[in-house]
Amino acid sequence: MDLKIVILGPPGSGKGTQTERLCAELGFTKISTGDLLREAVRAGTPLGIKAKGFMDAGKLTPNDLVMELIREKLKNIKGGVILDGFPRNLEQAEMLDKITKVDMAIDLVVNEDKLVKRLTMRRICKDCNSVFHLEFNPPKAAGKCDKCGGELYQRSDDTEKTVRERLRVYKESTLPLTEYYAKKGILKRIEGEGDISEIYRRIVKAINAK
Ligand code: AMP
Repeated sequence: MDLKIVILGPPGSGKGTQTERLCAELGFTKISTGDLLREAVRAGTPLGIKAKGFMDAGKLTPNDLVMELIREKLKNIKGGVILDGFPRNLEQAEMLDKITKVDMAIDLVVNEDKLVKRLTMRRICKDCNSVFHLEFNPPKAAGKCDKCGGELYQRSDDTEKTVRERLRVYKESTLPLTEYYAKKGILKRIEGEGDISEIYRRIVKAINAK
């Protein structure tokens, strides 16, 4: 499938979890600006050093940093792509439209009070970025990734205070994008609560209808 899909939804709505599975089972390539930024922070690159303060505060990093990462990645990818966590504001969406045609935007809809619990109990693999949840999607062995055996860690921005700021930023900057894509006639709203596999099936159905 050659579709370019944007996956929207608040932090903790399951974008990363569902994107992982879509890539594994349907052959999409994931581009997650959050993963790319965390890698840059870990590697201590100039871009990572600039981004870290914004990320730790739950703010968006400046558009020029993110666009630099996206342009580089999109250049080298053939076939279907899922953009996870990008675009995050109107300006990024308009810049993306200049680089490539977006075929579909999926909005994962989850009640806000569920999100804080999802995020504060989330754990990520240091090596492959797989996402787990201590209660809803626990790893088979504590602290270890099911897929690659890597060490699991808690993101430094998954604390309650930062999560609340990220949700505020989401409502202010990212939520308007649902309207942007709805106007283009390519928005698909998916109920993001309930069983992870059931949500996955809803997404696949929407993609197949495309
Ligand atoms: P995420 O992994 O998508 O939750 O992103 C984690 C953090 O990385 C965000 O809170 C932002 O600080 C930063 N970030 C990720 N993607 C973007 C983006 N498209 N634009 C600006 N900042 C971003």
